[in-house]
Amino acid sequence: MHDPPESNVSRERIVIVGAGFAGYQAARTLSRQLRGRAEIVLLNPTDYFLYLPLLPQVAAGILEPRRATVSLPGTLPRVRLVLGEADHVDLKAAKVHYTGPEGVGGELPYDRLVLAVGSVNKLLPVPGVAEYAHGFRGLPEALYLRDHVTRQIELAATSADPAESAARSTFVVVGAGYTGTEVAAQGKLFTDALVRNQRRGPYGHRPGKPRWMLLDIAPRVLPELDRRLSTTADRVLRARGVEVRTGTSVKEAGPAGVTLDTGEFVETRTLVWCVGVRPDPLVSEIGLPVERGRLCVDAQLNVPGHPEVFACGDAAAVPDLTRPGEYTPMTAQHASRQGTVAGRNVAASLGHGERRTYRHNDLGFVVDLGGVKAAANPFGVPLSGLAAGAVTRGYHLAAMPGNRVRVAADWLLDAVLPRQAVQLGLVRSWTVPLESSSPELARVPGGPGKE
Ligand SMILES: Cc1cc2nc3c(=O)[nH]c(=O)nc-3n(C[C@H](O)[C@H](O)[C@H](O)COP(=O)(O)OP(=O)(O)OC[C@H]3O[C@@H](n4cnc5c(N)ncnc54)[C@H](O)[C@@H]3O)c2cc1C
Repeated sequence: MHDPPESNVSRERIVIVGAGFAGYQAARTLSRQLRGRAEIVLLNPTDYFLYLPLLPQVAAGILEPRRATVSLPGTLPRVRLVLGEADHVDLKAAKVHYTGPEGVGGELPYDRLVLAVGSVNKLLPVPGVAEYAHGFRGLPEALYLRDHVTRQIELAATSADPAESAARSTFVVVGAGYTGTEVAAQGKLFTDALVRNQRRGPYGHRPGKPRWMLLDIAPRVLPELDRRLSTTADRVLRARGVEVRTGTSVKEAGPAGVTLDTGEFVETRTLVWCVGVRPDPLVSEIGLPVERGRLCVDAQLNVPGHPEVFACGDAAAVPDLTRPGEYTPMTAQHASRQGTVAGRNVAASLGHGERRTYRHNDLGFVVDLGGVKAAANPFGVPLSGLAAGAVTRGYHLAAMPGNRVRVAADWLLDAVLPRQAVQLGLVRSWTVPLESSSPELARVPGGPGKE
């Protein structure tokens, strides 16, 4: 089948803002469905789609950073990528204003708009956290953590002061959702391997066993997931030596460590903030009704009163038809399926195909705990050990829209070779502040930014 000839004369323009799970699938669906009959523009700050569930493996040195990405121009035919960040949506003029990667602004008029800007790190008003903690929402943060952790173990090995060495070998993760749980589980294996690789330091000692603490105010790890996944993850973490502290959080953070709400002071140089995410602040600035920061849409992902505007993924409050009265959770599973439905409905609004209502039953969840360990409940069947490990990795390969062979190759190499323990030092602490509306970009001096 041939595509219709390209012509800009009377083609309608669809602008999709954000190329994460939702935006990527919306663009892909539209590209396949319209085959050139409308102009599809994708506005995103990076030229890649980021497969976020693999980020903990980037931080643990299992995957090279580019493995978790999929090229947008390389995989989305008939979609025009515009590099930049939307700063403002003018609903009256039907235009998106944006800033490009080199600070130059532009505007994109649209006939249809799909908002899929996702979410950013959630902050809590805890003294010192904004200054001393780092989030885990983008590739720069994962790279920063990988290098930082490696550096701490190397500095611990050469420190003459046992107290300093112990502090540098202590890592505190706050938030035991799937992100924090995976970061702690993978991080412990990573630092154990780093310590094994260390030759004896000049003062005749290796750093002691790395100490990882995973805190959550909830009574169990993975509090939002099935209890059986929680039990498996808890067992694996404790067997590995991670100190799981439920019902506990951080009261204050400082340069030398953190004070827990129990009053205990833990000396550390590493605080990883995984307490969850909040919708991208752009959504609240548009001036349309929101639900906890998520843009309200109907079950066809249309913004009420604005037939030309659609929203999906973490940034949208989508009614969950399988649980009346609730909204769909912020997961990749929902975001990517909503992207597909949004794409179909945008096409239908232009006269191509039928509209659909979004309805999806959760298919289960997978949590990779590193090594061959995982916790999974595909279709509600709880799995642990090797079976869960195989299902988890198989699921990720199937769910990634590209780059699968490279990911599988890195997994294979990691299984047979020692992990490469070098820190490149390319991402510095100040370039990845916790409080950022653009966790996908590292800050650069004098560079554009919305902060
Ligand atoms: C570490 C981690 C692990 C996870 N693991 C899992 C998992 O195992 N399973 C699961 O179901 N979910 C998981 N999630 C959650 C899942 O990744 C999110 O629910 C999903 O990414 C939401 O998709 P989205 O398209 O709404 O947003 P995102 O995937 O976050 O995409 C948003 C896109 O919008 C872009 N953007 C943001 N602001 C602007 C702007 N102003 N202008 C232009 N573009 C913009 C961003 O750069 C990004 O490309 C994980 C999340 C994290 C952080």
